[in-house]
Amino acid sequence: MSATDVQSSPHALDGKAYEGSCFCGAVQFTVRGEPAGMGYCHCESCRHWSAGPVNAFTLWKPEAVQVTRGADNIGTYNKTPTSYRKWCKTCGGHLFTEHPHWELVDVYAAVIPDFPYRAGVHVSYQETKLRIKDGLLKMKDLPKEMGGSGVVAAE
Ligand SMILES: [Zn+2]
Ligand SMILES: [Zn+2]
Repeated sequence: MSATDVQSSPHALDGKAYEGSCFCGAVQFTVRGEPAGMGYCHCESCRHWSAGPVNAFTLWKPEAVQVTRGADNIGTYNKTPTSYRKWCKTCGGHLFTEHPHWELVDVYAAVIPDFPYRAGVHVSYQETKLRIKDGLLKMKDLPKEMGGSGVVAAE
């Protein structure tokens, strides 16, 4: 399922909606309810694509993410079958990454500024370029329930 072709009604999910947009505003969307998880990803793919040292992610069921404007202005690239990375074709601003094998969409925390982001975990910490001593759990790769080793890394 693609987050961009979800046409669920506003009543399909309960909970507060938060507005998100690309850098220029051509693409707008909402996320609704509670995310399945939040944290920081330190993996090489996130760093290389974002051109930043770490990606702050929020993971949502696809039906919780609704594109309200500019759906045909969204570009997609998938280097691997597990991550379909999406951006605005006008400004290049990143929007989200679809993870079909998890049936989850990573909406970057930076593009939903009003959402009360609270990281719960750091993942792929063995690949880190920026150690963050915040006391949160650091996973060497991914939690077991996400297909990783579940091994905890030193902060
Ligand atoms: Zn844009
Ligand atoms: Zn990553």
